[in-house]
Amino acid sequence: METVRFDELNLSPQILRGIQEMGFEAASPIQSQAIPVVLAGGDVIGQAQTGTGKTAAFGIPLLMKADPQNKKTQSIVLCPTRELAVQVADEIRKLAKYMHGVKVLPVYGGQEISKQIRSLKGGAQIIVGTPGRVMDHLRRKTIKCDYINTIVLDEADEMLNMGFREDIETVLGYLKEDRQVVLFSATMPKAIMDITRKYQKNATTIKVVKKELTVPNIEQYYYDVKRKDKVEVLSRLLDVYNPKLSLVFCNTKRMVEELVTALQGRGYFAEGLHGDMKQQQRDRVMKNFRDGKTEILVATDVAARGIDVDDVEAVFNFDVPQDDEYYVHRIGRTGRAGRTGRSFTFVKGKEVYKLKDIQRYCKTKILAQKIPTMEDVAQVKLEKIMDKVSAIVEEEDLTPMLDMIESQVNESDYTAMDIAAAFLKMAMGGNDEQGSEKDNFDFGDTGAEEGMVRLFINIGKKQKVKPGDILGAIAGESGMPGKLVGAIDMFDKYTFVEVPREYGREVLLALAGAKIKGKSISIEPANQK
Ligand code: AMP
Repeated sequence: METVRFDELNLSPQILRGIQEMGFEAASPIQSQAIPVVLAGGDVIGQAQTGTGKTAAFGIPLLMKADPQNKKTQSIVLCPTRELAVQVADEIRKLAKYMHGVKVLPVYGGQEISKQIRSLKGGAQIIVGTPGRVMDHLRRKTIKCDYINTIVLDEADEMLNMGFREDIETVLGYLKEDRQVVLFSATMPKAIMDITRKYQKNATTIKVVKKELTVPNIEQYYYDVKRKDKVEVLSRLLDVYNPKLSLVFCNTKRMVEELVTALQGRGYFAEGLHGDMKQQQRDRVMKNFRDGKTEILVATDVAARGIDVDDVEAVFNFDVPQDDEYYVHRIGRTGRAGRTGRSFTFVKGKEVYKLKDIQRYCKTKILAQKIPTMEDVAQVKLEKIMDKVSAIVEEEDLTPMLDMIESQVNESDYTAMDIAAAFLKMAMGGNDEQGSEKDNFDFGDTGAEEGMVRLFINIGKKQKVKPGDILGAIAGESGMPGKLVGAIDMFDKYTFVEVPREYGREVLLALAGAKIKGKSISIEPANQK
């Protein structure tokens, strides 16, 4: 598994900064192969699924080629759906954060055309759209093709399945003879090959060549989890399986940091490992993990490379790996030296196809599993406590305790059952109904009104955020009804918002890593001044 760093790919400092900010540690395999070819102007047939980093694989070179001085359209990306067009435009925009004067505009059916025409008049070097709508604009000359050098057909097989073949060919017909055609597709049926033969010249085929890999013989599970629930599900699995040492893999440095903070906040002994850390820091983290002081190591693929710890009992793929080979490497960290191991992979939506791919290629089974409920977690805790209880009942002299309980029963209104139940509750941790001590969050004094907690969010008026956006995000992301949100105080760069104390933790968790108005936010209990 060799890795290419982005700074080896001849990219501009502005793009490198955007990439750094997104937290990407190294180019994914499809990126390291495709970026140089697309940059050089060659036609490309890329075989890649969602989740491999394909968007940046064409987005980065499109940005490198974009001339900020020229406001005319210079490249077009065709996508099968409106959702994908928006997603792709968002990703390219994020990469372009430090490139002044470069605009990326999504256009798709269903959106008012007059509004789109107005946006197009403002000029955008990169247009991302659905085939029908792009064709419409080319016909109306609201998109002009004089300066269009590159066209990307993203998820080409999907576009053909959806009946866009004619529209795509019409769009291609509008473009100059010497345009560059970059095609990405998860599968390569005959219809795709027809298109490439007809419209591409000397295309380079790019796919990740798969080596024969042996998958370790360990139990592999996957869970369908929404992004906002991942931390909660990870916590439940950690509580249910109680692995001595676990490795949690994330795709970006940023996610590593966010997750470590979230886990530490819940009382777990977790530390992170990623490429931006100094050697000394890494050595310390690794030593703590080896010594068992840190039970959970959260890492990126690159950073985890040197890890040689034998008793890792569980590997979690918090993010689905971008490459099948990464998957095998990741889960190979457990089940070593004849020990048992388990792997748990979190997928959302379409990512499940990537998992299917992994199963096919690795000839292995990854079983779908239901997320453990709070009751399951409580049951496991109960079993552990009851094991200890049996040992004590069997082996120790409890006469003095029996006497004490008896006198308590005589002197109070409680039965022996009541007392046993209260002890059990104490032993299981916390006095909240969810049965976990990690759920019992102490906010301290946040300076809020009685019964409320005051939370700090690092976004404010300067980011064009309105109180309604904050309220919407809280109600939308957490299970708390919007009407329960209390005072919202907005300042230029940050906001204070009050929520009922009993919802505080839920809101904190739901909004950790969430976005408001497209900006990733951080949220924490306010400090009382
Ligand atoms: P895609 O395959 O384009 O749908 O990308 C899937 C996800 O991977 C997106 O959230 C990207 O932001 C992310 N991503 C793309 N390239 C990298 C990279 N080199 N390292 C980590 N994450 C990446």
